Amino acid sequence: MDGRERLKEARRVVVKVGTSTLAHRTGKLNLYRIEQLVREIVDIANAGKEVVFVSSGAQAAGMGRLGLRQKPPEIPKRQVIAAIGQGVLMHTYEKIFAEYGQVVGQVLLTKENAVRHNQYHHSREALQAMLAMGIIPVVNENDAVSVDEIKIGDNDNLAAIVATLVDADALIILSDIEGLYTANPATHPEAELIHEIGDITPEVEQLAGGAGSSIGTGGMYTKIEAAKIATSAGVTMAIAKGSRPHVLRELLTGEVVGTVFAAKEAHLKVRKSWLAFGKDLRGDISVDAGCARAMRERGSSLLAAGITACDGTFAAGSTVRVLSPQGQEIARGIVNYDNETLKRIMGHQTEEFPQLLQGDIKDEVIHRDNMVLMV
Ligand code: GLU
Repeated sequence: MDGRERLKEARRVVVKVGTSTLAHRTGKLNLYRIEQLVREIVDIANAGKEVVFVSSGAQAAGMGRLGLRQKPPEIPKRQVIAAIGQGVLMHTYEKIFAEYGQVVGQVLLTKENAVRHNQYHHSREALQAMLAMGIIPVVNENDAVSVDEIKIGDNDNLAAIVATLVDADALIILSDIEGLYTANPATHPEAELIHEIGDITPEVEQLAGGAGSSIGTGGMYTKIEAAKIATSAGVTMAIAKGSRPHVLRELLTGEVVGTVFAAKEAHLKVRKSWLAFGKDLRGDISVDAGCARAMRERGSSLLAAGITACDGTFAAGSTVRVLSPQGQEIARGIVNYDNETLKRIMGHQTEEFPQLLQGDIKDEVIHRDNMVLMV
């Protein structure tokens, strides 16, 4: 099944809408657009799909309510803005969803809730219970209490994590751009929209650049990060323009709109997706071509012999990335050795470990059970 077919078949869908779609340039809420989106979301729910709605816009709504044109630099003030804005946003949603007879419930997540295993489990249970009752969860990051290093930071990544949390079939990211282009359409008029992406290669990552709009947090870069999380957890992802009328219905009936990232065949086990995306990445391990192939094609454990370099400072038990000779991320996993020890054993056969190491010896640098393939 290709990506479009999967969207057509999707039963559980996470819809993420960015600030640039929900707010005017003035920073105030775009009520016309919000009404249109809410109506579409209720319509797909009425058609039998389960929907989780990840909405940004709390900061914008808070600034609008306070009459501010610019985000204050002080973190506590930003927290205040989020606290005010989240209420404004939810009030608006509650009112409009209710007009269509749809019950919604607010879920504010922090990185901790989405990541630490027992809390992750509770977040998952809550979201699934709401879906089972026909309620649409309206999700955002809890910006009033989470700052900087404890933040996920952008709702593209948050939405992808939520999609893996609820085992969604599809993640739709609505933004102020039609999808991923062959070049930046703002500066290259000849740029073409890419309709379907199979593998997220380094070239695809490069297309995403680093740009973001002035009122939202994400750019294409965070959307590609989200696509990696989603597709390797078996979730098909689409990026499309939020202002396009009927955009959700079009995507979910398989029309060629936006950019679709095909999901990887197998759904990951829940624990694995938590492991891959929930933890801080502490380092990079580069491997040779043979090792990359064995991992990719057979899901082999990572052995020291195939390792060519190791970057970063990490302890045994940290989560690290595994990179191909071309620098493409092929896997993430929990490493059995710290970076110093790894430098001693890399390039060596497992049989040589007793001469190189003392104490606890593990054959694998990353065991396949503790590893998630990203390609
Ligand atoms: N959580 C932020 C808000 O509601 C949005 C983050 C983002 O734009 O990705 O304002």
